[in-house]
Amino acid sequence: MKTNTMDTKTINVLNPLLEPFNTLHDTAPFPKLKNEHYLPAFQEAIKQAKAEIQAVIDNPAQPTFGNTVEAMEATGQRLSIIRGIFFNLNSAETNDEMQQIAQEVAPMLAEFGNDISLNEELFARVKAVYEQKDQLELTTEQQTLLDNSYQSFVRNGANLSADDKESYRQITAELSKLGLQFQQNVLAETNAFELHLTREDELAGLPDFVREAAALTARQKNKEGWIFTLQHPSFIPFMKYSDRRDLREQLFRASSRKGNQDNEYDNKEIIRKILELKLQKAKLLGYKTHADFKLERRMAETPAKVASFLDELHQASKPFAQNDLAEVQQFANENGFEGTIERWDWAYYSEKLKNARYGFNEEEVKPYFQLENVARGIFGLAQKLYKLEFKENKQIDVYHPDVKAYEVFNNQGEFIAVLYMDFFPRESKRSGAWMTDYRSQYVEKGVNKRPHISIVCNFTKPTETKPSLLTFDEVTTFLHEFGHALHGMLSQCRYASTSGTNVYWDFVELPSQMHENWAYEKEWLDQFAVHFETGEKLPEELIHKIVAAKNFQAGYFQERQLSFGMLDMAYHTQQEALREPVAQFEAKAMKPTELLKPVDGALMSTAFSHIFAGGYDAGYYSYKWAEVLDADAYSIFQQNGIFDQDTADSFRQNILEKGGSEHPMVLYKRFRGQEPTVDALLERSGLKK
Ligand SMILES: [Zn+2]
Repeated sequence: MKTNTMDTKTINVLNPLLEPFNTLHDTAPFPKLKNEHYLPAFQEAIKQAKAEIQAVIDNPAQPTFGNTVEAMEATGQRLSIIRGIFFNLNSAETNDEMQQIAQEVAPMLAEFGNDISLNEELFARVKAVYEQKDQLELTTEQQTLLDNSYQSFVRNGANLSADDKESYRQITAELSKLGLQFQQNVLAETNAFELHLTREDELAGLPDFVREAAALTARQKNKEGWIFTLQHPSFIPFMKYSDRRDLREQLFRASSRKGNQDNEYDNKEIIRKILELKLQKAKLLGYKTHADFKLERRMAETPAKVASFLDELHQASKPFAQNDLAEVQQFANENGFEGTIERWDWAYYSEKLKNARYGFNEEEVKPYFQLENVARGIFGLAQKLYKLEFKENKQIDVYHPDVKAYEVFNNQGEFIAVLYMDFFPRESKRSGAWMTDYRSQYVEKGVNKRPHISIVCNFTKPTETKPSLLTFDEVTTFLHEFGHALHGMLSQCRYASTSGTNVYWDFVELPSQMHENWAYEKEWLDQFAVHFETGEKLPEELIHKIVAAKNFQAGYFQERQLSFGMLDMAYHTQQEALREPVAQFEAKAMKPTELLKPVDGALMSTAFSHIFAGGYDAGYYSYKWAEVLDADAYSIFQQNGIFDQDTADSFRQNILEKGGSEHPMVLYKRFRGQEPTVDALLERSGLKK
C-alpha cells in the first residue's frame, strides 16, 4: 500500500502538465493530456506559485523593482500555462468532467488571487518601490508594470485602515451577491413568460425557420403548437416578421417589464442598493463617483470625457435617427398602417423597408466566400501589411483533428508565433468566436519567448458535396478575431502581463475592429473572393449592397446605443444615493435620445444586466468608443492606401507591438498624430451632413 503522499508524487511524476513539454516551440502536448491530470496539476502549480511568492516576500534585501515587482511578474509561470490550457480547452473542447473540474478549480484560483491581493507584507514591498519610482531609472514598460502592480493592490483596498478594509470587504461581498441576484431575477422573468400559439393564423408572416424553432420549443415543453419566449433568438424574429400586431404588442410588453412587476423578482430595490454600495466603495477609495473610479484605468479616463464623447455622437446622429423614424412611419402608412407606429411596430416595418430597398440575401454572397479562400485572403493581408508568412506544421500537437496549427515567420525568416485555428462547431465547443492564447509573449533572461495564439470560431462545416461557405458576417468575424490574434502575435514587450492584448478594456477592440474594414474593400476582396464553382469575382454591385445594408438606420441604431451609454453614465456619476424612483430617473436620463413614444411599465434599467451584473458599469460607452477608434485609425489607411507600407508599419510599431506597455492614448497618438475624433465613424456610417 502506498500512502497518499506517495500517490500524489507518483501522479506528479507522470503528469505531463508538470513536466517540461519537450515539444516544438514548447507548445502544449495536447494528445498526452487527460482529465485526471488537471486537478493535481493545479494543486501543485498553486503550491509552487505560493512558494515563489513567499520567496519574494522573504527576501531580506531592501525592496527594489527587480527583487519585488519584476520578481512577482516571474512567479506562477507553470500555473499560468496550466490555466491557459485548461480554460481554453474548457471553452473549445470540453466534457462533463472538465466542467466539474472547472467548478472545483475556480474557488482555488479565487482564493489564490485573494492571498496575493490581500497580502500586507507583499503590498508593503510594492509600496516601498512605488514611493521611490521617480528616483528609479525605469523604462516606460517598467513604469507601467510598477503602476499596474501598485494600483491593483490599492484599488482592492490595500491602502485602507483596518476598519475601512472591513467595510470594503463587506461592500464587495454584498455587491457580488446583489449582482448575482439581479441576473437571476432577469432570468426568472425571462423564463416565466411564454407566448403559446395553437392556431396557424397566429403565425402569419413568420418564415419557416422561425416556425420550426417555435414548434421545437413547444415539443420540448411537451405542448402542442408553437411557443415564443423572451429569449433573443425567439423574440427578435417574432418582432421582425409577425403580421399580428396584437401579438407583437403582447410579446413586447412582456419583454420590456422584466424586473419591474413588483413581484419577488423585482429589481428596482436591488438597483438602488447596488448603486449605493458602489458609491460607498468609490468614496472609501477616495473617488467622487463610481465612474471616476472605473474610468481611471481606461483610455477614456474621465466621466467628463465620456459625457462629451457621447454627446458629440448624439448631436450628429439625432437628426438622422429622426429621419429614420419618419421614413419607417411613412413606409408603414403607405402599406396600409394607420396611426403612429409604436415600439412593437418598429422592427416589423423596418425589416420590410430594408427588404424593399436593398433586398439582398446572404445566400447570394456565400458562394464567394469559401473558407479556404478567405483564410488565404487574410493571410495575404497579413503578409502585405506586416510581412508575415504562415506555414502549417502538422508536427505541432492539436487538441482536435479540425484544428490547424501554423508557424508564423517574419520576412527575415524569424519565428514570430504559433497560431492555432479552430473553425467548426461541435458539441464540446461553446458558441461564438474568440481569440485566446496558450502563452503570452515576454522576454526571459534575454530570450524573446514568442506567443502561442489561438482563434476559435463556429463557421459552417463543409459537407461531402459542398465546401465551407461563409456568410459576410462570418468573414468580418474572421477578420475581427485575426486582428486580435495579430495583437497577440506581433507583441514585442518585456513582461507577459503588459504584452499582447493585456491592454485597457476600452482599447482592446481597436486591432480587431480595425481589420474588419478590409472586408468592404474591393481591392482586397478581388484577391480571393471568387465563386467556388465558377471562379467569377464577387460582383461590385453586391459589395455596394452589403455596405448600404450595413448603414441602414445607422442614425437610429447609434441613438439607441448612446441612450444605453448615457443611462449607464447617469447612474454611475451620481454623487449621492438614488432617491427618486428608478422609472423617473431612467425617463430623465433617456429623454434626449428618445425617439418612439414611451410605453407604460416598460423599463430598461431593471433588465440592464450589462451594467448591474455584467461588468459594463460606467463602461457601456466602450462599444461606441471602439467603433470611433477603429474608424479613425482606418481613415489613415484610406488616406494613404489600404496596403500602404508606412501606415501598416506605424500601426504595427505603435499599436500591435506595444501591448499594454504604455497608456493607450499615448500609443494611439503616436500612430494617429492626434486624439481620435468621431468624424471618420460618422462618415463611414453615412451620418455626416
Ligand atoms: Zn473582439
